[in-house]
Amino acid sequence: MTTPVYQNFINGHFLKNQSGETFAVKNPATDEVIYHVEVADAFVQNAAIESAKQGFAMWSAMTPIERSRILLKAVELLRARNDELAKIEVLDTGKPWQEAECVDVQTGADVIEYFAGLAPAQVGQQQMVGEDFYYTRKEPLGICAGIGAWNYPLQIACWKSGPALAAGNALIFKPSEETPLGAIKLAEIFTEAGVPAGVFNVVQGAAEVGQWLTQSDDIEKVSFTGEVGTGKKVVASAAGSLKDVTMELGGKSPLLVFDDADISQAVSAAMLGNFYTQGEICTNCTRIYVHKNVYQQFIDELKTRTEQNIIAGDPMNPEVNLGALISKNHHDLVMGYIDKGISEGATLLTGGKALKPDSAPNGYFVAPTVFTDCTDDMTIVKEEIFGPVMSVLVFDDEDDAIRRANDTHLGLAAGVFTKDIKRAHRVIHQLQAGICWINSYGNSPAEMPVGGYKQSGIGRENGIETLDHYTQTKSIYVGMTDIESPF
Ligand code: NAD
Repeated sequence: MTTPVYQNFINGHFLKNQSGETFAVKNPATDEVIYHVEVADAFVQNAAIESAKQGFAMWSAMTPIERSRILLKAVELLRARNDELAKIEVLDTGKPWQEAECVDVQTGADVIEYFAGLAPAQVGQQQMVGEDFYYTRKEPLGICAGIGAWNYPLQIACWKSGPALAAGNALIFKPSEETPLGAIKLAEIFTEAGVPAGVFNVVQGAAEVGQWLTQSDDIEKVSFTGEVGTGKKVVASAAGSLKDVTMELGGKSPLLVFDDADISQAVSAAMLGNFYTQGEICTNCTRIYVHKNVYQQFIDELKTRTEQNIIAGDPMNPEVNLGALISKNHHDLVMGYIDKGISEGATLLTGGKALKPDSAPNGYFVAPTVFTDCTDDMTIVKEEIFGPVMSVLVFDDEDDAIRRANDTHLGLAAGVFTKDIKRAHRVIHQLQAGICWINSYGNSPAEMPVGGYKQSGIGRENGIETLDHYTQTKSIYVGMTDIESPF
């Protein structure tokens, strides 16, 4: 059977490359190639820039309310095609249908809707300076680039294009080479909704195409989602043309469970924050610090629920709640971390093995894994694994738990479970992380800014402030009096 070949989406339509180079995309749950994609060669790259220039000229000249109306049309189309788009995400990522069906498309659409609503509300300032005055305009940056990770491909494309386009920019988006189809579908939807050609281009490929975007003198900003190591390369490369950067990077986030917490709720949070999307979520609470008084109760319930409630298998089956990891390579990497956890002396509470479900025997599945008796210096406690692997640690002193939670170069997210309202806020204020939850974990509504402290990121996505990251302020001084000149 021949598989489809997708071209780059440039200037409102598909554009064939000249090199003929393509790459294959596999379904992680079956290990089968499902389609091929053309790499954005120099010809495509050039066309992407030229059309983005034209698209930007047209789009930025529209009023914010005109742009808003078009973006809201795209939101309507996204929601109407939820199931078709969710299925693409399942086949590309290996995540369960039961998640994609209600999260991926909807949370992407929410963010475009949110920024479409905000766009006309963005205002400048004016202030009198004696009889003269100045005013400011919020102007778009120009052509921006977005580079995405593979865990939430369509959502990431929406989270970057929503604010970028609402503010009047053009965006050239490069999805991960593991999951390239969702962004193409988004481009088709934007075009159908009336976004002018060239305003949202999709270029395909791996690191080299990403590097081209970060180096291009025609691009004003790059918004990147991916690993810390890649993020450092992107910032270094973007420095060559002094691009603005937004970096959404990895984490090794702590969840502190105090002895007055609702333990079942804390277990729910820990499971969601480690096993949802088979553990491939940047904000996951992979270090769970549990107060010694409730430690046994916590791990007993965690073990029971993990062993009884997880269903791995064909991700399209709506019963399945644990999908396949993104690739064989990543699967082996995660298994390598599990081996390391065992060899460094952690106790395997449950899991620790690859899975071969009957309905998806060739998929890259890893059993939900919990390590106890962990210590802060273990590799599994220090490094981001990006799979369903949880480390549980014990504490008995609040200050010490905070110190240990902060003892990392990462700072993406953090959580606290306690019924003591003062302690909840006191502790969360001391945790060095950009995205925090109290008696909750993982929710990320469009209204709430998200981003990392320390090496987990630069800048924010979502929330009002993100529009500022896609605009620049022009100050205009207006002279109402004669110029006093010594010349
Ligand atoms: P990755 O860093 O390997 O790749 C991310 C993207 O960068 C891909 O599109 C890739 O092709 C591109 N790329 C690779 N090398 C590049 C280079 N030198 N220059 C420019 N682009 C380059 O990350 P991944 O494996 O796709 O995603 C997993 C990582 O993403 C995890 O670390 C996870 O924590 C992080 N992540 C963070 C967030 C967040 O919002 N903070 C969200 C999702 C994922």
